[in-house]
Amino acid sequence: LSDSISNCLQNGHEVSKNIETHVVKKNSDDLQEARRKLPVFMVRGRLLEEIRKNNTMIIIGETGSGKTTQIPQMIHEQRLEGTGLIVVTQPRRVAAITIALRVAAEMNTEVGNIVGYSVRFEDVTSPRTKVKYLTDGMLLREAILDPLLSKYSVIILDEAHERTVSTDILFGIVKLAQKERNEKTINPLKVIVMSATMDVDTFRNYFDSCPVIYLEGRTHPVTIYHSKTKQEDYQYAAVCTIFQLHTTTPADDDFLVFLTGQEEIEAVMYNIKQIAKETTGPPIRVCPLYAGLPPAQQMQVWKETPPGTRKIVLATNIAEASVTIPRIKCVIDTGVVKERSWCSATGAERLVVRSGSQAAGWQRAGRAGRTAPGAAYRLYTAQQFNTRPLHPTPEILRCPLAPTILLLIAAGVEPSTFPLIDSPPRDSVTASLTLLKELGAIDSVENPKLTVLGRKMSSFPIDPKYSKVLLSAPEYGCLEEALSLVAVLSSENIFYTPMHKREEALKVKRKFISPTGDHITLLNVFKAFCKATLKKQWCKENYLNHRNLTYAYEVRQQLLAICQRLNLTLSSCGSATDQLLKCLLSGLFSNCAWSRSAGVAGGGARYVTGAGGAASLHPAAALHAASPPPPALLYTELLHTRRTYMITVSAIQPHWLQQVAPDYARRCRAYR
Ligand code: ADP
Ligand code: MG
Repeated sequence: LSDSISNCLQNGHEVSKNIETHVVKKNSDDLQEARRKLPVFMVRGRLLEEIRKNNTMIIIGETGSGKTTQIPQMIHEQRLEGTGLIVVTQPRRVAAITIALRVAAEMNTEVGNIVGYSVRFEDVTSPRTKVKYLTDGMLLREAILDPLLSKYSVIILDEAHERTVSTDILFGIVKLAQKERNEKTINPLKVIVMSATMDVDTFRNYFDSCPVIYLEGRTHPVTIYHSKTKQEDYQYAAVCTIFQLHTTTPADDDFLVFLTGQEEIEAVMYNIKQIAKETTGPPIRVCPLYAGLPPAQQMQVWKETPPGTRKIVLATNIAEASVTIPRIKCVIDTGVVKERSWCSATGAERLVVRSGSQAAGWQRAGRAGRTAPGAAYRLYTAQQFNTRPLHPTPEILRCPLAPTILLLIAAGVEPSTFPLIDSPPRDSVTASLTLLKELGAIDSVENPKLTVLGRKMSSFPIDPKYSKVLLSAPEYGCLEEALSLVAVLSSENIFYTPMHKREEALKVKRKFISPTGDHITLLNVFKAFCKATLKKQWCKENYLNHRNLTYAYEVRQQLLAICQRLNLTLSSCGSATDQLLKCLLSGLFSNCAWSRSAGVAGGGARYVTGAGGAASLHPAAALHAASPPPPALLYTELLHTRRTYMITVSAIQPHWLQQVAPDYARRCRAYR
């Protein structure tokens, strides 16, 4: 696969886009040989027998045992699925794509044919597809249109231990679908739950004491090292460890470093490159890997390095399970993750950097023992490790539920009786229902029914706050602009700010900046990008990320198609950007903040959010230095580190809230 992917890159293909025309040419004998050596292969006969006998089962096996790539193929080869499809969910987009590529290569076919994948805004399947990898979120969306999931004969819910909201909801959906298909004697549905180590009893109870199969792992010993003392700055500790190891280990040992997100990865990448210039040792290739990185760039991780070059992969917890990165010998674990978290009492949603669970620590360490014995360096003490929780908190207990509840109601499910492994706290459900009511998606909190608007909102694959923005846009005469803005906000960072040319990049960016703040600035960039003729060149000159802008452009096309299907009137507000900001407020009204420090210059100004918490402008916000600080702001996201920062922020008029979202304005204490 590595070869086929690098060919793909050399030919300048976007792996994700031109995939259908790309035929994998890897010698299939090698791949077949590798398949036969996997632990699942040893127990193939027994496994297939169990799958034949049981309609629900749990399969537990360490990462690398061959669950994800092999089991669907085996079921397909034996035609156990009858005439329907086999579908395998993954919590992450990059996993769904790379695994489909790998399996297509193993089956000696191109992806999009017998094997396909489907992720948000991208469907690479065809009527011939028999094995389909998709994100759990995509299957959940399919369940709205067809709660019985009748296209599918076998549903494999993979990486169950990650407990994403979508997977948790799918457990309930497939359970209900299985029961109903049984009662109506429609073709039966097989459900297989797969996972690395997890809390088996809970799952087994939930699935009516179904059989559990354990697969032997195929791991090599991993030596674990802990820090002797607590590390104040894990980024600094990571860079030090990288260079200590770099100068003392053979060049072909690749490193995998776990960090929390894009900014951190970029900062560490820059430091490594700087220090490498002044250090002796083998050449280094640094590869970032995080969810928001465009697929073609993610693929660099799987590209082989020349012999004698060390590859250092800087990854988020995306590399903790699901994906296989060959040749990693050393894992450096900072022990932290960035998680979305939500306080139901205040409705404040934020990103929090916190310590991971013990299970995550073991998973990360395990990545060093895939192909040979390895080592894991934990940048925290053994005692710190022992005080961590055993398993991560399921996402459903810490995330805003409005998007999921809207999907459930749209699928005709009664949220209060829906079978869940862990039920979210009552006030969290109520807070989400209240938000949906204020967005106009449902008619009441007590006995929620979808409104006409809510039905339309559920047809967009985006957060209801943003589908509301698109649906109110005709009223504000700004659908053209709203589409562009929502598309950009659905994509990753469109600015490219390399550390060593920071000043220059910021200077160039200045010409796009709107005095109203970041949203119109983003829109200005996107509009200029659409007009530019030589887009790649233009992006380079303007320090913009060409791939992310291209992605945003494609997302816009897809959102536009949905708007056209719903007969929305396309209109433009031109330079009347207030209209666009009001329109944005119609969906994001719960993301307002008010100044509490009149007269203080922008950066130091203190704000209080609608939920009542203190927040400041992120240093990257266009309004950071605004003087005097705007009395009211609309932000896209809160980031919680040592302080709480508002990210992607625009100035609004305080009285707009009353006009645009009167229900919310009445209940919002900070506003009054
Ligand atoms: P599991 O789901 O049990 O963690 P997988 O089915 O994902 O295991 O992978 C099984 C094995 O297949 C891996 O250990 C690795 O040897 C090989 N493999 C899978 N994906 C790739 C890939 N993209 N490149 C190289 N080898 C891979
Ligand atoms: Mg797997």
